Amino acid sequence: MEKIYLCLAHMSGKEQGYIQEAFDTNWVVPLGPNVNAFEDELEKFVRRVDESQAVGSLSKGVDNKKIVALSAGTAAVHLGLIMLGVGKGDEVICQSFTFAASANPIVYQGATPVFVDSEPGTYNIDPQLLEEAIKDRILKTGKKPKAIIPVYLYGMPARLDEIMEIANRYEIPVLEDAAEGFGSRYKGMMCGTFGAYGVMSFNGNKMITTSGGGALICPGEEAKQKVMFYATQAREAYPYYQHEKIGYNYRMSNICAGIGRGQMTVADSHIAHHKWLHQQYVEQLADIDAITVHSAPEEYMDSNYWLTTIRLEGEDACFDKVLDVQKFLDERGIETRPLWKPMHLQPVYKDAPSYVNGVAESLFNRGLCLPSGPCVGQEQQKHIIDSFNEYFKK
Ligand SMILES: *Cc1c(COP(=O)(O)O)cnc(C)c1O
Repeated sequence: MEKIYLCLAHMSGKEQGYIQEAFDTNWVVPLGPNVNAFEDELEKFVRRVDESQAVGSLSKGVDNKKIVALSAGTAAVHLGLIMLGVGKGDEVICQSFTFAASANPIVYQGATPVFVDSEPGTYNIDPQLLEEAIKDRILKTGKKPKAIIPVYLYGMPARLDEIMEIANRYEIPVLEDAAEGFGSRYKGMMCGTFGAYGVMSFNGNKMITTSGGGALICPGEEAKQKVMFYATQAREAYPYYQHEKIGYNYRMSNICAGIGRGQMTVADSHIAHHKWLHQQYVEQLADIDAITVHSAPEEYMDSNYWLTTIRLEGEDACFDKVLDVQKFLDERGIETRPLWKPMHLQPVYKDAPSYVNGVAESLFNRGLCLPSGPCVGQEQQKHIIDSFNEYFKK
């Protein structure tokens, strides 16, 4: 059997047609018909509401949301922070349990990240600790954090009712890092549409890919125009090159957007496959007491299950055992990976303020991501389950 990877890109077959079109019409530039069409499709996608799940109307203004396609999800985080006015000397609250790309752009802006730990149900930012952090930062610095970045780790929605209530009460805007939560829903609404801005990523390993790319979900047309201005070197409207602000070269190319258009034709089936795989893992690993498959803690949280994760249970659960399981599976051609190492434990962020309850660290020490993409079929999954049984029942 061929090696089973964590999450490989998977093409629909339509991608090359859109790329060919770009070549035929010589739109080989970071704008063009594929970019516009991809943005339109993403806009329709994020505006979709599952009425059967729409218990609340938290996601106000979803019909006004606009999309800007960018060169990376990291660029989307960066531009979101710029739009929220984050600058030198500011603080931004960021979920600690995440990939470094959620936090690094805070530093690009000369601001300081303040890391907040997770709660055990969703693995995402703990609302209670979030409020404690806000109060303490106000007390210590005399001013409010400039933004809050929750993350939808492995696709799981965060506790958005609580987070948005706190953010609204303190009047701090939310920048949702939905890079892993493409198509995940909370009470029927798409993740990424709850806060002021939302981040999408189309990196090679994400739910859909443009080989590399991202997008920023904006609150409306005016914001979209401003994001595009910053993403294209901040050129002012003059007949010559006039610059009054610092800009970036962050726009998506028309070639990559062609891949994105092809991927949009299979986005729903990709998501369905990831969910199906998760359900299989839940059922077939159920009788191994030493592991738990992580699932949504509330029925109104509709995770895309971008990656299914497990955690080791019992007294001997520790990081060495995680590595041992990883090695055992690797020898059987199965790629797995420990969960994200929390930012407050990263050497590069050792001096950043952090509000910690031990949840992320404990999950990092006990967790493992399992192969979850469209390339994992029934046969591959059986091999994975058999290998788990072999390891834990030996
Ligand atoms: C992938 C990812 C990003 C960054 O996206 P890129 O497109 O790789 O720049 C940001 N945040 C999280 C949580 C991610 O997983």
